[in-house]
Amino acid sequence: MSKVVIPQEAIERLRAARAIVALTGAGISAESGIPTFRAPVTGLWSQYRVEDFATPGAWRRNSALVWSWYSHRRRLAYRAQPNPAHLALAELERRTPNMIVVTQNVDGLHQRAGSRTVIELHGSLFRFRCADDDTAVAWEDHDIDNAEALERLERGELEAPPVCPQCGAQVRPDIVWFEEPMPRKPWGAAANAAQACDVCLVIGTSALVYPAASLPQLAKASGAYLIEINPEATDLTRRANWSAQARAGVALPELLRALESSAG
Ligand code: NAD
Repeated sequence: MSKVVIPQEAIERLRAARAIVALTGAGISAESGIPTFRAPVTGLWSQYRVEDFATPGAWRRNSALVWSWYSHRRRLAYRAQPNPAHLALAELERRTPNMIVVTQNVDGLHQRAGSRTVIELHGSLFRFRCADDDTAVAWEDHDIDNAEALERLERGELEAPPVCPQCGAQVRPDIVWFEEPMPRKPWGAAANAAQACDVCLVIGTSALVYPAASLPQLAKASGAYLIEINPEATDLTRRANWSAQARAGVALPELLRALESSAG
């Protein structure tokens, strides 16, 4: 028996949709073992707040601490596997004429699950740029799969950021930090897609970080059917046409099964 009660209207709107936008946040990767920012942090990093890492001020104060925090997250993301929610979205893309995943995540799991059209609003743990002039730097993390290097980071041994081969400045992760503007190109593409979609799925986001949180509102104002999947209520819940209060790894595969069994 289905654990998630799916309204018939949601199935029909998804089946008829020519264009779908899925906005995802940290919650979709929680079942892959990647903690959200609001989950309790353990180990060395528990003594810090996220503002100690994810701001330009944090980088100016202690770039080795910030670099090491992101090295830790990158290596965790590399070890993680896409979960049934990532896989279900990739499958939905295969059966929809025009589907875009707009993610606030930086872990690369949508692409690894097979999603082809992914807009990364907040950058990626796997790309790097010069901290001085923002040009892309092709740095390779040779310790990505090194358990000892991961343990050293967990014990509190910091790594120094690498150096830009062009100008000698420090290299930083290509991540959009709090207090930094959203890059114009991905944002424009995401806003256009939100305005043009028939269904907007909002999965695993607290819908608190702007401007990403405005995308579902933009979609709904343009006539889209709004579906939220999140075990907790958010500011978006009362605006959604259907809010599934369930884990993404349960609700999305069930939604896909319901779509498949209603097809034809
Ligand atoms: P958030 O931490 O603010 O909220 C996570 C949301 O996911 C919560 O509302 C929670 O109820 C929900 N959630 C938890 N488990 C879930 C599950 N199994 N299924 C569905 N939903 C679940 O995350 P956010 O809204 O993405 O915003 C925080 C910022 O942190 C983002 O900008 C993002 O870039 C960054 N971040 C990224 C990652 C990642 O790449 N995996 C992880 C942590 C934080």
